[in-house]
Amino acid sequence: MSSARRRLPGWARTAARRTADAVLGPVLGSVAGGRRTDHVAITFDDGPEPGTTPGLLALLARRGVHCTFFLLVRQAEEHPELVRAIGDGGHEIALHGIDHRPLTSLRHGDAVRMLHEARARLEAVAGRPVTRYRPPYGKQTPASWLAARRAGLEVVVWSADADDWVDRPATQVAAIAAENLRGGGVLLLHERVEPGPGANR
Ligand SMILES: [Zn+2]
Repeated sequence: MSSARRRLPGWARTAARRTADAVLGPVLGSVAGGRRTDHVAITFDDGPEPGTTPGLLALLARRGVHCTFFLLVRQAEEHPELVRAIGDGGHEIALHGIDHRPLTSLRHGDAVRMLHEARARLEAVAGRPVTRYRPPYGKQTPASWLAARRAGLEVVVWSADADDWVDRPATQVAAIAAENLRGGGVLLLHERVEPGPGANR
């Protein structure tokens, strides 16, 4: 923290941090696979999930579509066969955390250690390198972004949200996705809904 900020009263520091987070947070994540405007990147969070992953992989194989799966280590270690099936299907295996705790709730050093551990544990299950990370809820600050970079991870958020964690018909989810998604964009979808307050993601 700079000396100028240290002199500010607590409420002003909080306000400054919130403003910085609101402005910088959304632009810190880069766009995986979204650099070609004639492509979109489809991503699935919070899995793997026995009730969803096998059917989803079969559908993607039939359509010849490759996606990125941002997995929770806790789920991955419970269902290692599903992680290997995702990799065998030609999809990218990426990290969403050990569990769904917001990265911003950890101190910087703890966040770096957690991400190193999470990456190593997911790589052990997947049998392949893991290089990309999506923070739970997309919550991040400049400090948490740096923690991910120090753990050797590229931070990826999304450009289009289909709101699929809300209980609604699939046709509505598809319509929302189509409305929000542009060429070169990244679509956020879920393999499972992580129990918790508010917006899932
Ligand atoms: Zn999530």
